[in-house]
Amino acid sequence: MAMSEEHPIPISVVRLGDDVEKLLLDVVRSGIIAQGPVVKRLEDTFAEMIGVKHVVAVNNGTTALIAAMQVLDLQPGAEVITSPFTFVATLNAILEAGATARFADISADDFNVTAESLATRLTDRTKVLMPVHLYGQSAAMTDIDALATAHGLHLIEDAAQAHCATDAGRAAGSWGTGCFSLYATKNLTSSEGGLISTNDDAIADRLRVLRNQGMRQRYQYEMAGNNYRLTDIHAALCVPQLATYPAQLDRRRTNAARLNEGLSGLVGLRTPAQLPGREHAWHQYTVLVGPDAPLSRDNMIEALTSAGIGCGIYYPRLVFDYDCYRSHPDVIVDDVPVAASVVQQCVSLPVHPYLTTADLDRIIGTIRGLFESDTHGA
Ligand SMILES: *Cc1c(COP(=O)(O)O)cnc(C)c1O
Repeated sequence: MAMSEEHPIPISVVRLGDDVEKLLLDVVRSGIIAQGPVVKRLEDTFAEMIGVKHVVAVNNGTTALIAAMQVLDLQPGAEVITSPFTFVATLNAILEAGATARFADISADDFNVTAESLATRLTDRTKVLMPVHLYGQSAAMTDIDALATAHGLHLIEDAAQAHCATDAGRAAGSWGTGCFSLYATKNLTSSEGGLISTNDDAIADRLRVLRNQGMRQRYQYEMAGNNYRLTDIHAALCVPQLATYPAQLDRRRTNAARLNEGLSGLVGLRTPAQLPGREHAWHQYTVLVGPDAPLSRDNMIEALTSAGIGCGIYYPRLVFDYDCYRSHPDVIVDDVPVAASVVQQCVSLPVHPYLTTADLDRIIGTIRGLFESDTHGA
């Protein structure tokens, strides 16, 4: 079937409503266009949504991670253990903060590091555990939090993709210091932006001072800071989305359930697990194309693309698997066999809230066709 006959189904959609336009105009007309009351509203509303005491807004998600580490006063050589299966910002933030990065293997069930794998990487230089809640699914935080407590380690959560994901009824970002991205394609967006969550009064206080050049009161500097501020113009894009987010999350969850049901029982295709006790934020819906599949991952992507179905590989390589990191003195590459296998098999499919029933049927029908048609042998 020719691609032109059917509309393309993109992997993500940015749709901002009239309420955003109105608030944006209000901000423009107010004359308070840098950090002001709308940033405060964004912080307070999001804090309430995820059940934490403090949220500090910053200018992007990478900055959120950097700032979360900078307020800990890590010494050179301090080791941060994170996931090898993540966006490059996780690793860049560790290096920017002057720490050393190490990697624990992931579980193929949730694509995240586990307490068991983190435990195998502990040394006397370990200072921070940094799980990533990839694709919007919370890591197994009850266990990871217990490990951090048992060893006196800081816990920083890369929750860039996991707004309102939960484990055991607790939101991602509410266990340690949570770092969220508000980039254009994330579940919540301010075009560029970031949020840092914490229940720790002292950390929140240091983050607020750090964000504003280390200044507590005008020209009273108490630490070497930076300009990490978010603007009210950016916050105005995001604030109205907070009210509709619960309904959007429901749509993502319904879409994922439909895909899981429609794609079940195909040899060589592993659909994402909805793990007990966890609520997924479905930033991405990611399947694994195994060696027993009737077609290769590349062929599947080619076929989906020509059928107008958006898809993506997040991520094509392990985060350290580039010359610039393999040769970096602050990157310690460890053996991570599960992640190394998953990285060759993952494909993300559209799950965003604007998919129609017909879109979902088309995605399911196309993939079933691909996996079932080859059974006569080539
Ligand atoms: C998007 C993302 C970031 C960085 O956020 P930015 O707002 O783009 O700086 C960090 N970690 C993960 C896992 C991400 O997906």
